[in-house]
Formats: sequence, C-alpha cells, structure tokens
Amino acid sequence: MRRSSNHLADGREIIYFDDTETAPRTAKDTRDLPEQAPRSEIRRDPLTGEWVGMAAHRQTRIYKPPADLCPLCPTSPGRPTEIPESSYDVVVFENRFPSFAQGVPALPSTVDGMPMVEQAGGLGRCEVVCFTSDHESSFGGLSPTRVRTVVDAWADRTRTLSALPGVEQVFCFENRGEEIGVTLHHPHGQIYGYPFVTPRTERMLATAREYHAEHGRHVLGDVLAAERTAEIRVISSTEHWTAFVPAAARWPVEVLLVPHRQVPDIPALSDAERDDFGRLYLDVLGRLDGLYDKPLPYIAAWHQAPVRVGREHSWLHLQVFSVLRTADKLKYLAGSESGMAVWVNDATPEQIAERLRASG
Ligand SMILES: [Zn+2]
Repeated sequence: MRRSSNHLADGREIIYFDDTETAPRTAKDTRDLPEQAPRSEIRRDPLTGEWVGMAAHRQTRIYKPPADLCPLCPTSPGRPTEIPESSYDVVVFENRFPSFAQGVPALPSTVDGMPMVEQAGGLGRCEVVCFTSDHESSFGGLSPTRVRTVVDAWADRTRTLSALPGVEQVFCFENRGEEIGVTLHHPHGQIYGYPFVTPRTERMLATAREYHAEHGRHVLGDVLAAERTAEIRVISSTEHWTAFVPAAARWPVEVLLVPHRQVPDIPALSDAERDDFGRLYLDVLGRLDGLYDKPLPYIAAWHQAPVRVGREHSWLHLQVFSVLRTADKLKYLAGSESGMAVWVNDATPEQIAERLRASG
C-alpha cells in the first residue's frame, strides 16, 4: 500500500491510499473554493446527559447530484471534482460540510447562560473515504486486495484522528442506499472523530465493566464463544473472524463481524486479521445482497475503543444492519424506537440467520 497526501483548494487535506506502488499523487485542485469556515457545535441534553451535534452549515450540502456531476469521481478534463487526480484506488479527504472540525469558533460553556445546558465547539474531524473510483461499483464488489487497502486506510485514519486535539472517539462507517438517506451514490464511507465518547459506546463499556467485575472475562468474548458453540445464528466464519446475527438483534437484518482476538481498534489488527476480515466481509455482503435479490441498503458501523478511556474493556467489531424488512418494506423508527429507544423486531434473529446462511 502506498500513501500520499496533498491539500485541496480550500486547505482541506486529501490522502491517497493505493493498492500498489504508483507514481506520486501530485495533481493540483484547480477549483476556486471559498475558504473553510466550519461552525459546528455540541450541546449536552440536560435530561439524558447525551451530547448532540449541531451543524447548520450542512443544509447547503450537495443533494443527490446526477452521475455526471458526482463530486467523488476522479477529475476529468473540464470537470473538476473533490479528487484532483484522474484515477485513484482509495482516497480520504476532509468533509466539505463537516459535523465536527478543527478550527471551530470557541463558544461560551453554557447555552444562553443556563448552567445545566453545557455547550462547546464541535471540535473533531469528519472525513470521506472513497472505496473505488468506479461510480457504479459497491463495497461488496471490491477485490480482497482493495478491501485490505480500505482496512489499512481506516487504521491510518483512526490513528491520525485519535491524535487530533479534542477527538475522544473515532467512528468509521458506511451508509449505503437511498433508503438510508445516502445523498451520493458513489461507493464511499465516512469517518467521524467525535469530541466525546458516544452514548452507545458509553453504554457498552459500562456493561463490559460490570460483566468483567463479575466473571473476569470480556462479555463479547463469552458471547462469541457461545454463538460459535450454538451455531444457530452463525452466518459464516474464517480463521480469525466470525459473523453472526446477535441473539437480541434490533434490526430486520443485522450481523456482527467479530475478531476472535480481543483488540481495541482497527490499528491493533494484525496483517492476517486484516486480510481475513476482507474474506469474511465480502462473503457477508454477498449474502446481504442475495437476501432480496437486489442491493441491500445498509449501515456498516465499526465499534472501536475510545481514544482515552475504557480501552481495556473494548472489543473491536463491525455491526452491519438494514432498515429493509422485506424486499420493498422499510422498518421505520416509530414511537417505541424513537420515543423510548425500545426496538421491536418483526423477524427473529434465528430466522434472519437461516435466510442469510441460505443466501449468497
Ligand atoms: Zn462517482
């Protein structure tokens, strides 16, 4: 893998990750872009204690452009895009409309002088990751070599963002499909460097701490061992990873990909584990697209350890889930889910696992 970095016309960083040694990536961004002035902020909900990001400048972002105006395709003569090069393998660049960024304005520590409502600038970083220059492809259509380059890019970005001022947690994810709200069809994911530990991670760490105090082991390690023994919810496995439907799945389609060794984050994966992940994930994505005989809209979410806290109680895993409960019916987050955070799943995890094993 070859890594080279450069800057776009408005000062944002762009980093190329190539599968093999190639000529240095030196193409200049010729666009006339206004200087970046991100204005995001965070506020803490006084009733739940959870932080909420506010990024009003995102309202002006590009919404579903036609394919010939795709900003994630390589630049071609007369048609400059976000990527100045005429081709690329994997490329990462700072989001033009970030939810969190470096250089955000400082704010008073409370909202309107209300001491119970804390606020701060949305200090962090948001990046876009393009998995391929092929507009019509998908993550599931990548070669194992390319998946390895993506994993190496995620590891690089996790390490780099973790070292930035204010960043407390790094989240690599992919939203795929219009049903998920994707505004650009080009195969890409995102990376958020959050200025706080996310509510979901806080909750999982608390559970892992309690479980460890009682049993002396990691809860996900025990779950993994039990699922591998029970077999009923296991979809597929390799030497270093197992994919299974969680026993208390919330979504109509949901799969966890878990490394057999406890590691806190992607940078901690060995070469063998990184290669092996690609094999398993491509198999799982094939099964997901086979489920309804069409590309499945999904969210793929990497659960990594926070930067400074709870690392010994973290166990890296990828959660992939879909809102599609039949070929043409969406699961909506309605009253119970949105109001009370109680999911009601129409399918049992055992049924989902059986269908995924038979698919692909
Ligand atoms: Zn494109």
